[in-house]
Formats: sequence, C-alpha cells, structure tokens
Amino acid sequence: MIKRTIEDLKDNQLEGKRVLVRVDFNVPLNEELEITDDTRIKAALPTIKYLVSHQAKVILMSHLGRPKGKVVEKLRLDPVARRLSELLKQDIKKVNDCIGEEVEKVVSNMQKGEVVLLENLRFYPEEEKNDYEFSKKLANLADVFINDAFGTAHRAHASTVGVAELLPSYAGFLMAREIEVLSNLMENPERPFVVVLGGAKISGKIEIVQNLLSIADRILISGGMSYTCLAALGYEVGNSLLEEYDLEIVRKMLKKAEKKGNKILLPVDLVITKEVSEKAESKIFEIDSIPKDGTGVDLGEKSLIEFEKEIKKAKTVFWNGPVGVFEIEKYAKGTNRIAKILADMQGKAVTIIGGGDSIAAIDKAGLTEKMTHISTGGGASLEFLGGKKLPGIEVLPEK
Ligand code: AMP
Repeated sequence: MIKRTIEDLKDNQLEGKRVLVRVDFNVPLNEELEITDDTRIKAALPTIKYLVSHQAKVILMSHLGRPKGKVVEKLRLDPVARRLSELLKQDIKKVNDCIGEEVEKVVSNMQKGEVVLLENLRFYPEEEKNDYEFSKKLANLADVFINDAFGTAHRAHASTVGVAELLPSYAGFLMAREIEVLSNLMENPERPFVVVLGGAKISGKIEIVQNLLSIADRILISGGMSYTCLAALGYEVGNSLLEEYDLEIVRKMLKKAEKKGNKILLPVDLVITKEVSEKAESKIFEIDSIPKDGTGVDLGEKSLIEFEKEIKKAKTVFWNGPVGVFEIEKYAKGTNRIAKILADMQGKAVTIIGGGDSIAAIDKAGLTEKMTHISTGGGASLEFLGGKKLPGIEVLPEK
C-alpha cells in the first residue's frame, strides 16, 4: 500500500497555497489545563515544518477529548497552540471556531509560511458523523488536504474522510511512517514475531487476536483481557475486571490458538488485592487459586518470567496496553518490567509500541529512545494489525 505523501507535492503546489492538515493533538491535560505529555504535538512537527519551509499557508485542525458535539471550555485548543508555538518558535494564530465567517476571514488574510490552528473539531456533532456539509465547509478553506492524524485513522469522520473526498489528499510524514512500519509488521516481520497485549478492554480486541493468530508466532495476553480468557477456560477470577463478552467466542479463539501450536500465552499467576489502591495489601496467587473476593491487578512473578522468556526469543515485538493497573505505582512493576525487557533488546530486535498507556509507561521509565517505533495511535495500530481497513487511510489516493 503506497500512498501519495506530502513529498509528492511539487513546490508550486505548496508555495502560497492553503494546506489543510488533520493532526492528532488529542493530548492529556491536567486540572490546570496544562499539557502533561506533548508527544503528539512533537510527532506532527516534521509535517508542519516542511509546509512552513515550503511557504504554504498551514491550517491545522484536530479534536481534543470528548466534548460530544458541544462547546466545552476546558477542551479548547489554546494550550496546544501555545505549546506548538514554543516548539515551532513561531507565532500560531488560534481561531475560536473551526468553520464559519471568522475562520474564513482569518484564512483569507494568511501570509505564506503562516500557521493557523482551528478550534476543536468535536465541538460540532457533524464531525463524528462525517457530515457532508460540514466536510464541505472545512474543505472550502483550502486547496490541498494532508492527513497526519494516524491516531484517528480508524474513524470515518468529516475531518479524516469527508474532507479527503473533496480535496486533493496526501499522507503527512507521521501518517506515512506509521503505514510503512505497520505494513512491514503485517507483511514481513522478522521472526519470531511476538505480540504482547494488555489493557482493560477486550471488546474489539478478540477480532484482532483472531487475525494475529495467522501473523504472529506468539501472543502474550495480560490485563483485563486475560481475565476474560481465564474465565472462559473455567478459572475463578474473583472480582477481577471482566467485560460482558460471549465466552464461547473466546473459548473458540483459545482452542484455535492451541491447535496452531499453543500460540496464546496466558498468565500463570497474578498479583491479587481486595481493594485496588496503593495502601491495600496484595499477594501473588496462582491462577487456579484466585480467591472469590480478590481482584487481579498485575502479572505475578512466574508469569513475568514466562513472558520474559518468550519476548527475549523474538526478533520483532509489538506491545499494546499495560499488563497491570500501572497508574498505581505498586501495580506498575509488571508493566515497567516489560518496558525494561524491550529496552534491553535495542539493536537485537524490532520493538514497536502501539498506544497511549504503554507509551506513557515507557516514557515514565525514560526508555522511549530505546524502542524502534512508537506508534501514536493505540486503537488505530491495533485495528491495522487486526487486518481491518482504516477509513482515514483507505480514502487517501495511492501513488
Ligand atoms: P486500554 O485502554 O484497554 O488499553 O486499557 C488501559 C488501562 O488498562 C489502564 O488504565 C490500566 O490501568 C488498565 N489495566 C491494565 N491491567 C489491568 C488489570 N489487571 N485490571 C484492571 N485494569 C487494568
């Protein structure tokens, strides 16, 4: 899949032209509305800098959080504009809307090399509905469209799909790199290829595991998803996080994995507590003796040793989702250990991290530089590996 990219645009298609760029500035903010992790802003810089240096008029658009189609003051993009301006060392003009008269006026007065940031797209319900009229209003602002928001590529929204259908469209540098790395992973991974899955949710991930069964050599399942698997196998998992899920489907998947040479590895022991808090006591239990009032919060020592053994054999590793409730320091041990194992494989294996929480854990441990590739889209990278077509990528023309 070779998509047309920003580098396929000739100089005269950029100089003085209005270029609308969908970026993913969905950054975490604290109570004081300060950005606690600017990775996503930094990830968009190569595309923005390239456009500025080619004298384009750069119009940036993004969503932030879940305002559910209404203006939510706390979710305005002003903190992003300030941080972006610092990083670019250039003034950014922030507009308080993403469509309408004010925006049109600002855009028509733009100079070459100037950067404008539009307001949170999701203040309009039309964005997530991929509404045609809304897409048209966004598209009318520009001559060219660039999608650099891999994190939302799995959603068919007005700013990812609608606009791309109306304007000449290209992938930005970040999008192009994500497609390249993940396509390689799917089509030609150096083997053994081991996938480590964690996190809370299982919904949506079962289909991904089904697909991975024919791509990966080993799939290590932890976190909330593993409890559902253990429950499907008849184990008592106490009060551990269990999503309502058709256990028969999970059972079938596990059977299939067994037939394919025991492809799925589940925990053999877990850290169990009665109350998920820093102060509460916790103890390791084997999976066949989990107490009825216990909650699983991290991988146990034996599980970690098994996981480590499998990961170390790999030439390619993809990791998505923390293996425990890593926000609580005491239960972050397993997640930190996985991060450390991957970091130690630098130069010996390809290590790809997909998604928010695993990135946060690696970042906290100061190990980011040691990974081969950190994908900015958790959900998007998982769906990509799951063999699903991502609408935001599908709609971009091929070379
Ligand atoms: P997800 O969005 O599905 O990747 O889930 C991320 C969340 O999974 C983090 O907030 C973790 O605290 C949570 N998580 C990981 N392991 C567990 C676990 N064993 N029990 C409950 N939550 C978990």
